[in-house]
Amino acid sequence: MFLLAPTMRGSMSRPTAQPTSSGLLLQPNLPICQQDLPLDRYEDAFRPYAEEYLALPDRTPETILPWLDGYITPAVDHFGDSLLLLAHYYMGGEIVKLVERYGGAVSDSYMLALQALRQPEKKVIVESAVHFMAETVAILAADDQSVWITNPRAGCTMEMMAKDWMVDPVAAQLLERYGDDIATVAYMNTSGRLKALAGRTGGAVCTSSNAHHIVAAIREGASKIFFVPDEHLGRNTAHRLGIEQDRVIVLPQPTHMPPDFQISDCVGGLAAIDQAEMIVWGGYCGVHTVFTTSQVSWWHEQGWEVHVHPECPLDVVLAADGAGSTNYLWKLVEAAPQGAKLAIGTEGHFVQNAKTLAASRGVEVRHLTETPETTPAGCGCATMSRNDPPHLAGMLDLLRRGEAPEINRVLAGDQVAEDTGSRQRLPDEQRAVLVSEAKMALERMISITEASNR
Ligand code: SF4
Repeated sequence: MFLLAPTMRGSMSRPTAQPTSSGLLLQPNLPICQQDLPLDRYEDAFRPYAEEYLALPDRTPETILPWLDGYITPAVDHFGDSLLLLAHYYMGGEIVKLVERYGGAVSDSYMLALQALRQPEKKVIVESAVHFMAETVAILAADDQSVWITNPRAGCTMEMMAKDWMVDPVAAQLLERYGDDIATVAYMNTSGRLKALAGRTGGAVCTSSNAHHIVAAIREGASKIFFVPDEHLGRNTAHRLGIEQDRVIVLPQPTHMPPDFQISDCVGGLAAIDQAEMIVWGGYCGVHTVFTTSQVSWWHEQGWEVHVHPECPLDVVLAADGAGSTNYLWKLVEAAPQGAKLAIGTEGHFVQNAKTLAASRGVEVRHLTETPETTPAGCGCATMSRNDPPHLAGMLDLLRRGEAPEINRVLAGDQVAEDTGSRQRLPDEQRAVLVSEAKMALERMISITEASNR
């Protein structure tokens, strides 16, 4: 059995300055497996591209690439070095490979967030990922950099369980009771509005790879942490830092939380909240909470190693051989010796991509749910997958023609209705305040993370 640190007990890997190649190859006979969206799920401006795409006779790279080239190559030539294409590892393999084919980069949310900041020469940034990832790039972007999402209906369901109008009333009660003794740590999977809350309360943003460093550092200045939005990353982080679970209060699931919720309604009342070291929002990721300890045991019985993402429940994380961020899991597969067998508990497209990479290196990868007892579930991030090839082609072509819809433009502070993709935009002055507060939280994360890697 091999282990490539970091586990819940180990240290995180050093983030590199730029995303490296995913290592995936575009095979000529690759089936384009991304699920088709019905035509009425495309905005008017994108529908012609979808119609053409769906009419392609045999959607493999042999037919898709010439079609995509017709739209994307002129845009790449038009914008030259000022264009930056980004995609998250959770996108279907075809988008990952297509984005790389056109000179773009694929990474996890931490590395994606840094791209505008680290590449000021990139003026037009197009992201195939969920909205909070694009918004984070926009928060850190300079005024002359514009950020676009290929499908504005691509929202993260965990982020959607912690909209500012849901969290702010609870945060206000906590701030009133504890003042400077409580700071908010906002997982990257939050809107810019919650990142701003973290900034103005002396907290920071965190990712799944650095949450333990961030919470530990912020606890030096505040005795209580309000952790949003993921219950499981919150619990896993507390466990990793040695905080007793009875000092961790998890608020009700957002879907069950009454609008007039009072912190005194928590189990144990105000006395329990007063004693808590971490107060954790009750959001979760449906993709990462399908995993069970029985699945882990089954793979162990077959002699496989199991690694999971820390958005999984604590018992699953503790049963696994290691847990870490998307980047950790990808690097694990890249570094696995020939003959290694890895069952991975994370998003389905990621595992599919990892299987492709692993197979080319004589390594076996399976999704943790691929056991005889588990009914195969839709374990991919369905909302992320809404950024399909027609959206990528349409976005770049519309940008080149100067006709990109404003609904695809991402500005810090936008409040998005993911069912329609529409957005409520802050007035300039309010946006400037939000950007400065959210930047504070992101910059604290960056400096704590970089210091922990030295
Ligand atoms: S996998 Fe879960 S946490 Fe990640 S983007 Fe999708 S819904 Fe959000």
